[in-house]
Amino acid sequence: MTANTASLAPLRLAMVGGGEGAYIGNIHRISARLDNGFQLVAGAFDIDADRGRRFAATLGIEDSRSYGDYRAMLDAETRRDDRVDAVAICTPNHTHFQIAQACLDAGFDVICEKPLTTTLEDAIALEAAVKKSKRFMGVTYTYSGYPMVHEAREMVAAGLLGAIRVVQVEYPLEWMATAIESQGNVQAAWRTDPKKSGRGGSIGDIGTHAYHLAGFVTGLKLESLSADLATFVAGRTLDDNAHVMLRYEGGARGLLWSSQVAIGCSNGVRLRVFGEKGSLTWFQEQPNELEFTKLFGRVERIKRGAEDLSPAAKARTRTPPGHPEGYLEAFANLYAGCAEAIRARRDGRDPAPIGRNIPGVYDGLKGVAFVDAVVDSAQAGGSTVTPHAV
Ligand code: NAD
Repeated sequence: MTANTASLAPLRLAMVGGGEGAYIGNIHRISARLDNGFQLVAGAFDIDADRGRRFAATLGIEDSRSYGDYRAMLDAETRRDDRVDAVAICTPNHTHFQIAQACLDAGFDVICEKPLTTTLEDAIALEAAVKKSKRFMGVTYTYSGYPMVHEAREMVAAGLLGAIRVVQVEYPLEWMATAIESQGNVQAAWRTDPKKSGRGGSIGDIGTHAYHLAGFVTGLKLESLSADLATFVAGRTLDDNAHVMLRYEGGARGLLWSSQVAIGCSNGVRLRVFGEKGSLTWFQEQPNELEFTKLFGRVERIKRGAEDLSPAAKARTRTPPGHPEGYLEAFANLYAGCAEAIRARRDGRDPAPIGRNIPGVYDGLKGVAFVDAVVDSAQAGGSTVTPHAV
């Protein structure tokens, strides 16, 4: 068996899920090829094998590499000379564990969607499996792909805000403000089903993004939390709104809000960080800007593309300032980072800046531990809970 180790050609990618009409698979496909880090050559795209094969044909996948299910794919790919290098998992939450475990067992690197798994036990097992396999696993926490999020992280690390006191992070959406799961919306249907979504509703689906973003920028470690979960839309069993108070090690406090019923909020991810000397604000719907304010100072609007940005932000920037970059480019930064991390590991060298600080299985495990603690706290009437140590 040979893999593309020495060549500079794109790595060969397979995908599980992301079939016709699916949401995130297409974002992965666009992102994987934006910087030529990967070429999609194989897949088991759909829970319905025939529909998956028909869809694969529209993507230009060779018939011999269009598979009816992921096990057949892994089995066949391990026996090919031009076997795939990595597998992207774009299926609903409850399938991530089994598919990822099978990919690792077959010797493939993995790029997996969040939340990593639906149970803490599975997340712990998967982290151990990645360590044992010595394979790479990236977890697509989208918001850590934005250049201005990296700039914020660099500014906090450089001490420009001083010691962090308060973190406010929110991820409100409006698309599930009515019971669309009972009107044929496939994505809402599995997200509101505890067997497929996991213990968290909004908190697992989007609260995990907010939690990762806050930790990614501030470097703070969660000590304990207290949560209130609400279910506003009749017929649901999982939360569609979550408020979580966060206590970080060292004394900083945080407040996290995730909501699927926030009318008027399209994709309103917002992070505010307040330190002893200054504060930062980043809003995903204006992703090319970062606001920085020093104590009693004027508000500085830092632009993506400015000459004095950090190497971490520059490495994730393609076009000059004034040419907006956004969601697809940020997601592509994660893919470019995964490609670089895989190549660097194979070559036995340190990754270039784009391949550093890629969210991985450990971040995925922390996200699942966070959701578990939130649900435990809410079920105990908001009592203080220490998340499982990871
Ligand atoms: P979706 O329902 O739109 O698509 C799921 C796809 O997986 C479908 O094509 C389905 O047929 C296929 N599938 C299901 N089980 C399969 C199996 N065993 N084998 C092969 N294919 C299978 O779901 P979605 O909204 O695209 O979400 C998928 C995942 O992506 C979820 O884990 C979700 O949390 C995550 N997600 C992440 C982001 C992000 O910003 N990173 C955004 C949206 C969704």
